[in-house]
Amino acid sequence: MPHPIKLLLTFIIFTLLSACATNIAGRKQVMFVSESDAIESSKQAYINTLEPFKLKGQLDSEPDMVNRVNRITSKLITQAKIMRPETKSWEWSIKIIDDPKTVNAWCMAGGKMAIYTGLINQLSATDDEIAQVMGHEISHALANHTAERMSVAMASDLAVNLYKSTIGDSTGTTSLATSAAQVAITLPNSRTSESEADKIGIELAAKAGYNPNAAVTLWQKMSKIGGGSGFEFMSTHPSPENRESALKKMIPKMMPYYQAAK
Ligand SMILES: [Zn+2]
Repeated sequence: MPHPIKLLLTFIIFTLLSACATNIAGRKQVMFVSESDAIESSKQAYINTLEPFKLKGQLDSEPDMVNRVNRITSKLITQAKIMRPETKSWEWSIKIIDDPKTVNAWCMAGGKMAIYTGLINQLSATDDEIAQVMGHEISHALANHTAERMSVAMASDLAVNLYKSTIGDSTGTTSLATSAAQVAITLPNSRTSESEADKIGIELAAKAGYNPNAAVTLWQKMSKIGGGSGFEFMSTHPSPENRESALKKMIPKMMPYYQAAK
């Protein structure tokens, strides 16, 4: 007999199947999860995801790094709000996870972000390159990619299993959607989503005063050291066809934004 949660899930999926939206890249998205639901679920998912690091004292533990990343992301957030004014109501947040072995960064729906010290240190990332990483991550949220990945997560055993493991926890605040939002950031983006995030991200960063050439050097560094253990970023951000040449082609158009912002 099918598991009751799965039956419920199938019901939810079919009820919401007609949900369709157009994202800022102009692409029609068919999803089982609306953006507002994704934002709502991500609030608790963010807390749940960060909790283990918080308990181990691995959150925002290096003041210099925190100041540096905050300075960069606040400029990007300013540009994101101009690009999509409704994001002014998002509860934006950035946390630095002190984990030198993990190369990763993400942004959940509603602007809930994290970057691992492993990404910054292993890549010897410059400010311009950090801006490209976080600009790219913010762009996934701006283009509503989180809701798309949550839709995939909802239909997978991963989200159901995570949800089942939390049933009976004392807080009682975790829903299936929360579990899906947690799982979503561990699933690969589609190559279409990657191209969209590259395009929007380089523009956000240029308008925030960060050199567009860093988008190219960033991905060069990524592929140079990528593939090792702890390199989660490359598994969630598969390389779209001709990423490097596509980004190079965007640079001349981005330069005026960059010059104006400087
Ligand atoms: Zn990506």
